[in-house]
Amino acid sequence: MKNLYILFAVTTLVLVSCQEKVKEEKSEVIAEVGNAVIVHEEYSGTEPTTPEETEFYEPKVPVVKPGVMGAPPSDAIVLFDGSSLDNWISSTDSTAAKWHLNKDGSMTVNDKTGNIQTKQNFGDIQLHIEWKSPLPVQMEGQHRANSGVFLNGMYEVQVLDQNDNPTYVNGQVGSIYKQHVPLAMASVPTGEWNTYDIIYHAPEFNEDGGKIKSGNITVIHNGVLVQDHIEIKGTTPYIGWPKNPPHGKGPLLLQDHGDDSRVSYRNIWVREL
Ligand code: MG
Repeated sequence: MKNLYILFAVTTLVLVSCQEKVKEEKSEVIAEVGNAVIVHEEYSGTEPTTPEETEFYEPKVPVVKPGVMGAPPSDAIVLFDGSSLDNWISSTDSTAAKWHLNKDGSMTVNDKTGNIQTKQNFGDIQLHIEWKSPLPVQMEGQHRANSGVFLNGMYEVQVLDQNDNPTYVNGQVGSIYKQHVPLAMASVPTGEWNTYDIIYHAPEFNEDGGKIKSGNITVIHNGVLVQDHIEIKGTTPYIGWPKNPPHGKGPLLLQDHGDDSRVSYRNIWVREL
């Protein structure tokens, strides 16, 4: 009988120990707010029996007032609102941006004056940008209203007049140039305004310059998901494979493709993530 008691006690101890281990292993992140992480310590084999056990009130979520009718949200950094090009410089020589500032609140590529980029550098961002291909159309393929939005100054989301204008699919509108074919072609008719809403997470590098974590990009084109959290393989060159030079924050860059693209941009803002 005494032996039976001892066996029972040992078995109980082992079971409790196992349960604690399972509990520990099953602890799981259930919510992230900014950099704060809520861990539900009790998530385990014990199923909650009340709704309150799975409801959290801290930390508070920041309040952002959304923009009305295309206006930027309250915490956005406005990079272009049509009033000036003051937030932009020439990528060629860092002098004032030489693109055309239009009376309708947009700007247009000034052919062969070079790319322009923001004065400010960014890492992870949410970006809103609107662009328009011009009428009348001219030229074909990659030469028809080619521009581009370069994240971190080096990863291109292609801008192109794709309407009745076939080209290589990994270089068409909405592509991550020569890396990721878009999931859809969602352009509005030529001459109308397109929107790109882009989520960008930068790659990470170690002290020796080696990439330790890939970046990723999500692109929504006129409300249509065209890049779904794709992995950035590296830079997006016209010729050659993607490269992975180490970098920190970088500018947002807009492309002058150098063939009279006449592409226009407006309403550009970012939220740092
Ligand atoms: Mg381009």
